[in-house]
Amino acid sequence: MYNDPSSIEEAIEKLNAVSPSFCMAKWMHATIHLHMGRTHSCYLPPTHKIPEKEILKNPSALHNTKYKKEQRRQMIEGKRPAECRICWEIEDLPEKRYSDRHYRGQDSWIKPFLEEVSQAPWDQDRDPTYLEVSFSSACNFKCSYCNPTFSSAWLKEVNEFGGYKLSSAFSYQSPFSLKTQGLMPLEDEKNPYVEAFWKWWPSLKQKLMFFRMTGGEPLLIQDTFKILETIEAEPLPHLELSVNSNMGVPTTTIEKFLTQVKSLVDQKKIKHFMLHTSLDSYGAQAEYIRNGLDFKAFEKNIERYLEVLPTSSLSFTCTYNALSVVGFPKFIDWILSLRKRYANKDRNIFIDIPHLQGPDHQSCLILPESYEVQIESAISYMESRQEHHYGIKTAEILKLKRILEWIRSNRPTTSKALKEQRRHRKDFYLFFTEHDRRRGTDFLKTFPEMKEFYELCEKLS
Ligand code: SF4
Repeated sequence: MYNDPSSIEEAIEKLNAVSPSFCMAKWMHATIHLHMGRTHSCYLPPTHKIPEKEILKNPSALHNTKYKKEQRRQMIEGKRPAECRICWEIEDLPEKRYSDRHYRGQDSWIKPFLEEVSQAPWDQDRDPTYLEVSFSSACNFKCSYCNPTFSSAWLKEVNEFGGYKLSSAFSYQSPFSLKTQGLMPLEDEKNPYVEAFWKWWPSLKQKLMFFRMTGGEPLLIQDTFKILETIEAEPLPHLELSVNSNMGVPTTTIEKFLTQVKSLVDQKKIKHFMLHTSLDSYGAQAEYIRNGLDFKAFEKNIERYLEVLPTSSLSFTCTYNALSVVGFPKFIDWILSLRKRYANKDRNIFIDIPHLQGPDHQSCLILPESYEVQIESAISYMESRQEHHYGIKTAEILKLKRILEWIRSNRPTTSKALKEQRRHRKDFYLFFTEHDRRRGTDFLKTFPEMKEFYELCEKLS
C-alpha cells in the first residue's frame, strides 16, 4: 500500500542497492515547459534550459538533456546531485524521515522499471512514464501569485504598464527582468520545442502511464485538443490523462472539451481522466486572488463537468496564501456541497492544500499572529465536518495543520527576520494598491475583514 512503511522500506532497499543516491524519478518523471524550453526531473530541483541543438538531433532530449544525464551519472555512481538538495536535507535529518526519493520509489509508474533502468548505461535515452507538459503560456487569467512566464494576460499587462514597483524589486515581473533571467515565454508560432514534442510523441506515448497537460490555460491551446484527437484515433487504454484548467474559458470551448473527453472515457480509450483546477477561497475573494475568474461561471462549468463525466475525478488545488485565510470555511462548505451531490464510488473530488511558496508578499508568513486563531478555528470546523464518504478527510485536515505548524515555526524572532517581514508587508500594500489601480479591483471592499492588516502594511510603506 502507498505510504505504508513496509512498502517504503522495501523501495528504499531496492534503490539503495543500486546506490544511496539513486532516484528513479530522474529517469521516469519529467515536467517540460515547452513554452520556454525548460525541464526538470522531478519537480523539486530548479528547471534547466533545453539546448535547441540537442532536440534537433534527438526530440527525446526534451527530457534526456545532457545536463540531466550528468545528474543520472552522479546518482548511479553514488554521488548526490546538488540540485536534489531537498531530498538530501530530509535524508540527513537526525530522526528518520522519508524523502521524495523514497516515496517515488514505490510509485506504480516507477517500480516496474527499476531493474531495467539500473542496468542500462547512464547515458541511455529513456522515455518517461509520468510526464507533465505546458505547450504555451496562453492564458486569460492573471492570478495574483502567478507571473508573465505562465500567463499571456499577465505578460500583456506588464508590457503595457511595466513591472510593479516594490521595495524588494524595483520592477517586479517586468519584461526586462524576465528576459535577463531567461524566463520570457517563446512565441507560439515558432516554438522548436513543441515541434520536437510532436516528433517524439509516437515513441513517447508507448510507455506513458500518466500524462498531464498544463499551461497557461490548456483549453485555449490547440495542442491540447490535438492530443485528445490523437488518442481518439489511436487509443491509449493504459494512460491516466489529466488536464489543469482554470475552467473560465467560453462555454463553446468547455463543451468541445467535455465532448472529446467523454468520448475517450466512454469508449475506454484511456484508463482514467482527472481534471485539475485551482481555487484558493470562495466567491468574490477567490475572484480577487485569481484575476479573470467569474465564480458563478466557474461553478456552472465545474457542475457541468461532474454531470457529463460521472466517473472522472476532480482535484482542487487550494494554494493557501495570505488572502485564503478569512474565506476558507466558505470554500470548505462549497467543496462539501459538491461532494454530497457528485462524489460516487467511481470517482473522487480531491482537495490539495499546499502553502504558497512565493511571492513572499502574499505568503501567510506576513500575517499577524491573530490570523493563526482563524486557521485553528478553520481546522476545528473541518474536524466537525469529517465524514467517511462525502465529508472532509483526515489527510485534508492534516494539510491545514501542517500549514499552521509551518507558520508557527517560521515566526520571526530575530531583528533580521522581523525586518524581512516588514519588507514583505510593505510589498503586500504596494503590490495590491497597484493591482487595484491597474485591474480595477478594490482590496478593502473584497476583504473588509483584513482592513486592520492592510492599514498596518500601508503605514510601513
Ligand atoms: S532525489 Fe529527490 S529531488 Fe532529486 S529527482 Fe529524486 S525525488 Fe526529485
